[in-house]
Amino acid sequence: MKITILYDNDAWNPQLQADWGFACLIEAFDKTILFDTGARGDILIDNMKKLNISPDRVDEIFISHDHWDHTGGLSHFLQLHPARVYMPSIFSGAYPAEEIIKVHDAEKLHDNIYSTGTLQDIEQSIVIKNNKKVTVIAGCSHPGVDKILDAAAQFGEVTTIIGGLHGFNDFPLLKNLENICATHCTQYKNEIQRRYPSAYIQGGAGKVIEI
Ligand SMILES: [Zn+2]
Ligand SMILES: [Zn+2]
Repeated sequence: MKITILYDNDAWNPQLQADWGFACLIEAFDKTILFDTGARGDILIDNMKKLNISPDRVDEIFISHDHWDHTGGLSHFLQLHPARVYMPSIFSGAYPAEEIIKVHDAEKLHDNIYSTGTLQDIEQSIVIKNNKKVTVIAGCSHPGVDKILDAAAQFGEVTTIIGGLHGFNDFPLLKNLENICATHCTQYKNEIQRRYPSAYIQGGAGKVIEI
């Protein structure tokens, strides 16, 4: 399984543009899923181009929540490539998508790929299960990292979290994780890295994480 960060507040690869927002490409179990779309479609597409990733490669889009720094690039992307979109249940707005699926409760999207369901009426996270280990990718973690980890745990032992953790500061919750890529809006990146240096993975646009 391979996760490539396409859009982030920082750039891992200096050729890519950093901008407030988040998007990543998930390649797992023969599916290529775009998770969120950053704030601006032109930056998203340009960063993808620099990584040699054509929009046509994307099978589906998974939107974590209806905030501009995650959905801003969606219309632009869909104009180039109208794919199926999984939206959180509260999502409003019309998009030129091939199909829009609103996700309320936890559900299986494909073999080994799930949604936590829309938690706290705001945000869903995607869950990928690989060799019994569970990876969860979060947009901003508005429902709370505890709730997201609990929801992901119904699919197996959570070993990896990737994405924005916002103001999360209940650090011991992360102690059993093998991989922590706390990026985007995470306020306490330095503290998380200090406490869990071997699990910590620095994010940024262009970072590739293989699990
Ligand atoms: Zn947000
Ligand atoms: Zn955000």
